Amino acid sequence: MPSHCPYCALQCGTVLTERAGTASVRPSLFPVNQGGLCRKGWTAPELLHDRERLREPWVRNARGVLVRSDWDSALDRVGDELRRLVAAHGPDAVGVFGGGGLTNEKAYLLGKFARLALGTSRIDYNGRFCMAAAATAGKAAFGLDRGLPFPVTDLAEAGVVLLAGANPAETMPPLMRHLANADLVVIDPRESATAARAALHLRPRPGTDLALALGLLHVAVTEGWCDMDYVARRTVGFERAWARARAWWPEQVERVTGVAAADQREAVRMLASARRGYVLTGRGAEQHENGSDTVSGFVNLALALGLPGTPGNGYGCLTGQGNGQGGREHGQKADQLPGYRLITDPRARAEVAEVWGIAPEELPGPGLDATRLLESAAWEDGIRALLVFGSNPVLSAPHSVRVHECLSRLDLLVVADFLPSETAQRADVVLPTTQWAEEEGTMTNLEGRVLRRREVLPPPGSARSDLEVLHELAVRLGQDPARFPTHAPTVFDELARASAGGPADYSGIDYQRLDAEEALHWPCPRGTGESPHPGTPRMFLDSFAHPDGRARFVAVDWSPTAGVGERQPPLVATTGRIMEQYQTGVQTRRVHELSVSAPEGFVRLHPDVAARAGVSQDQRTVIRSEHGEVRARAELDESIRRDTVFLPIHYGGGEGANLLTGPETDPSSGIPEFKVCPVSITAEEVP
Ligand code: SF4
Repeated sequence: MPSHCPYCALQCGTVLTERAGTASVRPSLFPVNQGGLCRKGWTAPELLHDRERLREPWVRNARGVLVRSDWDSALDRVGDELRRLVAAHGPDAVGVFGGGGLTNEKAYLLGKFARLALGTSRIDYNGRFCMAAAATAGKAAFGLDRGLPFPVTDLAEAGVVLLAGANPAETMPPLMRHLANADLVVIDPRESATAARAALHLRPRPGTDLALALGLLHVAVTEGWCDMDYVARRTVGFERAWARARAWWPEQVERVTGVAAADQREAVRMLASARRGYVLTGRGAEQHENGSDTVSGFVNLALALGLPGTPGNGYGCLTGQGNGQGGREHGQKADQLPGYRLITDPRARAEVAEVWGIAPEELPGPGLDATRLLESAAWEDGIRALLVFGSNPVLSAPHSVRVHECLSRLDLLVVADFLPSETAQRADVVLPTTQWAEEEGTMTNLEGRVLRRREVLPPPGSARSDLEVLHELAVRLGQDPARFPTHAPTVFDELARASAGGPADYSGIDYQRLDAEEALHWPCPRGTGESPHPGTPRMFLDSFAHPDGRARFVAVDWSPTAGVGERQPPLVATTGRIMEQYQTGVQTRRVHELSVSAPEGFVRLHPDVAARAGVSQDQRTVIRSEHGEVRARAELDESIRRDTVFLPIHYGGGEGANLLTGPETDPSSGIPEFKVCPVSITAEEVP
């Protein structure tokens, strides 16, 4: 049965086989992976049979202990409590927290459930923590955001690819086959697996990526690499952006970032003189309190060189989560309605309201970004209940210590998931759900390609699809059951109608087409004639999505932030991913082969830093920030900067990287600062 890997946004194609109740996968020739899979993909079926799989609902009893329950009791308890809270405090007393791994159908129905059945504005999702900055910057520049506005396979023709804060060699290894012919310019403070393959590696001081982007634009302009014909024909705003970048001479950039002026010039020369060139950003550039501006800085560079919307060239964001793209299009984002339309847009409200059979004024307004949604549990007028679907904010949200405090104030925490995540372990009610090979659904990968996931196994125990859970809860909140279908193709058809006319228009897609054509890129509007719309693999070739068809330079500038100033803090922690694990590790930490390879958290640091701290290889260390502390094993690494330590994000307990991070978020996108956190390090005292 053709299907797709359950993990990252590449959504590698697989052939899924069931034999005697056990599933196995092998790679398919799907374009993004062309017969390859990473270790996570190969081992994914193990999750289906995990012995800790949630099989029945759990409810916390009067003594504070989670005990097994049955569906009716668990759902009744949730329904009763939600009705009580809404009646007493209003609908915004209930928050909904979604996930970038949910199928399009689940993300859509979750948004509808929040706004229609609960009437709350307070819904957001964990994608806020990863690609929100790129989404904001992409929309500002191009008029809409699609991670890659071209197929991954186009990268195979590239001469040079500049990767800003992206490490696909570890996070999505099959992508590297498309980069095999390109010279890579990698911007990363760390000697990552991708940087190790680079023709040129620029290692800026953490938190200064934007200054580097401004410097690269400066070089492009002053050394004559700009495509001024393209700038004049296809963009607006160059002069304002240049007015900010004008002061960023390479030598000044070198003082702030530590990247040699000669390397800045070489990076621009390589990219501008390549026959085909791309700029790609990842979490390293995005997860900053100036994340949107940082991405805009790299988009400005790409525009100045005439790359976006030019055949064989472009700018894109390497979205991370499995349905990170689709997850942000269908209404589980605080400011979005289905079709990737703003909830404040009167036309979008009217069209979605019509599909939902309500008046536009019944739709709530914009809610709170994910960090503030969690924080609002401590507010007088904040949330008193939180429903979490397919997410683990206890580990993934910044400033874990504060998140724990806020969650403990809730009257009700409900978690729907298929494994007992750290968030589920804190819940009052845990609802067991199906996972990838046990359900029908669609995902949208990082290229905006909508694809089918297929069911080959029955769910274990009494686990149910999230669609059924939402249906049952909606009924308990007095909704017409027909408004919350549980049949995935039916939900998809409604989603497609609700998206019609929006940037992410799915109205020409249905399950029959996906089955026949394998996958389709949005926008794919419903055709008017005989032939259906073919989908849009490449965007912006004729015009960008702004009303005048032109892309926008965004005027941005670098200034010191909370974590990094003009003067160097002695040591900063930066967080990220490793090859063997995925997100907060709830899934991959349970896979034997992966957990043997990467069983525990660690802190990677330079031997000189270790020597100063009295720490040796494999010794337990304490890393402290003003927000908390982590205890982890030391891994000494000659290649890491002497002002930087690295911690993976995949582990819990005392190894949770977000015990160190603080509450700072980007004002434009709400993405937290995960990459720069001043810390100190000492050896752990042995009692
Ligand atoms: Fe799965 Fe991503 Fe690995 Fe492909 S690269 S096999 S989608 S985790």
